[in-house]
Amino acid sequence: MISVEDALAKLFALAKPSETETVPIAQASGRVLAQPVTAQLTQPPFDASSMDGYALKAIEADLHAQFKVVGEAAAGHGYEGTLGAGQCVRIFTGAPVPDGADMVVIQEDVERRGKLITLLNEQQSKSNIRPAGQDFAKGDAMSAPRLLGPSDIALLASMNIAEVTVARRPVVALISTGDELVMPGEAPRAGQIVASNTFGLKALLEANGAEARIMPIARDSLESLETVFKLAQGADLIVTIGGASVGDHDLVGDVTASLGMELSFYKVAMRPGKPLMAGALTGTAMVGLPGNPVSAMVCGHIFLLPMIRAMLGLGATPATRQTARLTAPLAANGPREHYMRARVENGEITPFERQDSALLSVLSHANALLLNPPHSEAQEAGERVFYIPIL
Ligand code: AMP
Ligand code: MG
Repeated sequence: MISVEDALAKLFALAKPSETETVPIAQASGRVLAQPVTAQLTQPPFDASSMDGYALKAIEADLHAQFKVVGEAAAGHGYEGTLGAGQCVRIFTGAPVPDGADMVVIQEDVERRGKLITLLNEQQSKSNIRPAGQDFAKGDAMSAPRLLGPSDIALLASMNIAEVTVARRPVVALISTGDELVMPGEAPRAGQIVASNTFGLKALLEANGAEARIMPIARDSLESLETVFKLAQGADLIVTIGGASVGDHDLVGDVTASLGMELSFYKVAMRPGKPLMAGALTGTAMVGLPGNPVSAMVCGHIFLLPMIRAMLGLGATPATRQTARLTAPLAANGPREHYMRARVENGEITPFERQDSALLSVLSHANALLLNPPHSEAQEAGERVFYIPIL
């Protein structure tokens, strides 16, 4: 049995970095930028008005001063001329500031009669002008790697970048194993249950940058498992669920061994998730998850997501931890790190009473995995503990 930390290190060694591909920015949110990009232009490209009002010379903007309106500047349509003394230009938000003007007086501060305006209020030093390049300059870089979010996509568009090079989504083949399993929507017969893990894991993986393929359910026979492993070839990561313990029908270890897998480890000192295995199967990373639904999902958070992030080029780091105060005492822990289903609210964390690793209803109410480290002593309410947010 190895520690969670050692298991993760071995999994990172199995995870190969993704290749790259080019996608339009409209499809790049949630993808990892693989090559830096540089702004193709300066933004704003010209001094632009940030208000609706009148462009004029700041030095002339005294209380009650009067100006003649000599033209108009709207967004997309600048004023061609140059402002002389005592002149102003009607201007709108986003319009280029005309030559000769260095301030925009907002229209609320002006009284207009025909072609003449009078300033009603004392002007502060605010120019209401966005200077050219105040957002970014041509040649400014967006660095890589970087997980692109909606704000980044807006920035890329504004930089006049139409396509970006991103890491290809790692393809994960998800294999449920078990004679008892049927697909959601089918009618389970006596003794059968519905396969849930592949669906939960697909959702988890795809929300984190991978492409997951649900393979046909492998039955508890060597032939069936071998067939499904063949179907999974070509994936970047093969994940089996169930069949990894020591029961007579737990055949994943036997089949992977007969297919020539180089076993990296088997069994991790954690709860839930002890019968975890991993290795390299003809060059492809393979992870065997325990079958209990909560164990499989917890292992997804603790092991699969960090692997995916590493493959995407985001670095080999464990799931992010945060801290919260216990609302209730926490019992001492044995030799296996316990990932307790819990709820965090307003900085306080409460573990659920029922921690059975088959309870998906509990997992669904949880928004955190409370970490009870190996051999930790009992803790009082109010003490700070680590947790991993899950959503
Ligand atoms: P195993 O590791 O195959 O012994 O499975 C442990 C438990 O998890 C058993 O109760 C299985 O029925 C259940 N199980 C295994 N695979 C799945 C799955 N894909 N979806 C839901 N439950 C599963
Ligand atoms: Mg089984």
